[in-house]
Amino acid sequence: TTALDVTVQAQIIKLLKKVNRERGTAILFISHDLALVRSLCQRILVMYKGKIVEEGSRDEVFYRPQNEYTKTLINSMPKLSREKNTDRYEKSDDPVLKVDSLNAYYSVGKSIFSGGRTRRQILKNISFEVKEGEILGLVGESGSGKSTLGKSILSLVKDVEGEIIHYTKMPQMVFQDPFSSLNPSKTIGWILEEPLRIGSDLSDEERNRRVDEMLMKVELSPDFKDRYPNELSGGQRQRICIAVALMLEPKLIIADEPVSALDLTIQAEIVKLLFKLNRELGVSIIFISHDLKVVYNLCDRVMVMKDGEIVEMGSDKEVYFSPKNDYTKRLLEAVSDNQ
Ligand code: ADP
Ligand code: MG
Repeated sequence: TTALDVTVQAQIIKLLKKVNRERGTAILFISHDLALVRSLCQRILVMYKGKIVEEGSRDEVFYRPQNEYTKTLINSMPKLSREKNTDRYEKSDDPVLKVDSLNAYYSVGKSIFSGGRTRRQILKNISFEVKEGEILGLVGESGSGKSTLGKSILSLVKDVEGEIIHYTKMPQMVFQDPFSSLNPSKTIGWILEEPLRIGSDLSDEERNRRVDEMLMKVELSPDFKDRYPNELSGGQRQRICIAVALMLEPKLIIADEPVSALDLTIQAEIVKLLFKLNRELGVSIIFISHDLKVVYNLCDRVMVMKDGEIVEMGSDKEVYFSPKNDYTKRLLEAVSDNQ
């Protein structure tokens, strides 16, 4: 179920439970999603570097883990805790971005009958602002239009109506798949310098210094400069993608499902890194995800999208603990079912 969004996941889990109950079919469920494993499985094996490091009942493994790796794994499960990180960036009221009554369209399908293509509306009347230093979450099922909104903000979707006002330089994007977004034939040093070669007239020496500095900010050592992308783990590559996005010191980055392709422990590290960078640099972040729990832990404010519309927008606490919209409630139920 890893590639599915939460409501569909919940349906599949329900189906598996039913098959097991009604037919007595045994299930070996392989997953890195601990919340799902907890909701479905009676007995759990934990594997680390090719070995089974822990085995036990659900309660033993989740509430009385013996092994150090299992403990780390359980601790990195995203939680909805009311007392989340209070030590946050001092936001200002100045906007970095304003979107007003945005509609966006794709043209789809070659019909052999009409010969033409039809214009399909994806985003419907979207308005919101991002303040300086703010982390704004954007959640919704896959296909709801989250990526289209991100691309529209960056002018990558051309057929739009409404207003998109940037108060600072163009935002930078971080994508879901750190494997395909780095040029495999270039070294990390070259990749990190590239934005500076294009967007500044710094000397070779100064560029090199900036690269070292940025590697430190994303918690990687300067030796990484000589490596190629395929010599890095998924988490390390995503750190590099974040570093590339930050090279020209943008005031806003749009991170589109930046942790969805990563393992749970790595997810937690990348979220922590984004939070740290927000605090240190004051960079605003639009964090797009179908995982409601990840968004809650990181964001100051949350927008919920359904079928191209924002159906709910509010502070983290409002949206998660007193949602007004039925769709938001359903999404949240799907999350707590899995706990
Ligand atoms: P999300 O990021 O929330 O999963 P997307 O913004 O990727 O959603 O997609 C929203 C809708 O737009 C979907 O129905 C998708 O099939 C459609 N869509 C996405 N990209 C294109 C495209 N380039 N051309 C036509 N339709 C697209
Ligand atoms: Mg998307």
